[in-house]
Amino acid sequence: MEEIRLIVDGKRLDGRGFEELRPIKIEAGVLKRADGSCYLEMGKNKVVAAVYGPREVHPKHLEDPSMAIVRYRYSMAPFSVEDRKRPGPDRRSIEISKVSREALEPVIMKELFPRSAIDIFVEVLQADAGSRTACLNAASVALVDAGIPMRGMVTSVAVAKVDGVLVLDPMKEEDYYGEADIPFAFLIRNGKIESITLLQMDGRVTAEELRRALELAKKGAMQIYQLQRDAIMRKYIREEEVVE
Ligand code: UDP
Repeated sequence: MEEIRLIVDGKRLDGRGFEELRPIKIEAGVLKRADGSCYLEMGKNKVVAAVYGPREVHPKHLEDPSMAIVRYRYSMAPFSVEDRKRPGPDRRSIEISKVSREALEPVIMKELFPRSAIDIFVEVLQADAGSRTACLNAASVALVDAGIPMRGMVTSVAVAKVDGVLVLDPMKEEDYYGEADIPFAFLIRNGKIESITLLQMDGRVTAEELRRALELAKKGAMQIYQLQRDAIMRKYIREEEVVE
């Protein structure tokens, strides 16, 4: 197999430095019929999140008398990837939905809404590696936009090992041909990283590299967190202007 070099002259294939995120664009409140929503781009990833709730639970037997249930559906559009993806859920999207829900649940004040449901739908319109991290960032903003009481914000980013070095926020080539891919999600509270709510890995790294990957992911997450906050602020300023 032809060897693929991912780092050339100390730069990544898209010209980024090792510790540099892809360009990120976030807009809150893009869908009229959802209670909260967000459109987000992270490099070539384009995703949209819609939040409904708290609302009645259907089917009823899923109700929890002590708190709200949270449901999360990650879904990839057939046209979002190079080889058309078969529509509908597959094992990968079911797994991503489960771990993403678990990444978000600790931040949602579920106990305030017994017998209700909070539904989060995230659609990947275009994928370029790290789509689960882009979706989590969008979902978190959409939850705030829906006015769901939160303990903080969830922010997600991956670190990869490529050509022997750790790089932040890998794009597709780095994900495909790299030695490891490690998505993280963090609960950020009062501007500080409080806990890790998602950590996955495929590939191989040393324990020391994993420690450094965590530090790098934390740095990236703090930058994304600022952009999430900015997007929410912009939405509220827009609303105020409309009221006036
Ligand atoms: N991908 C694809 N077809 C699929 C699933 C994934 O082409 O059915 C691509 C897509 O670009 C995705 C990338 O592979 O972003 C990495 O997928 P992974 O399962 O690692 O999830 P992600 O990194 O997107 O969270």
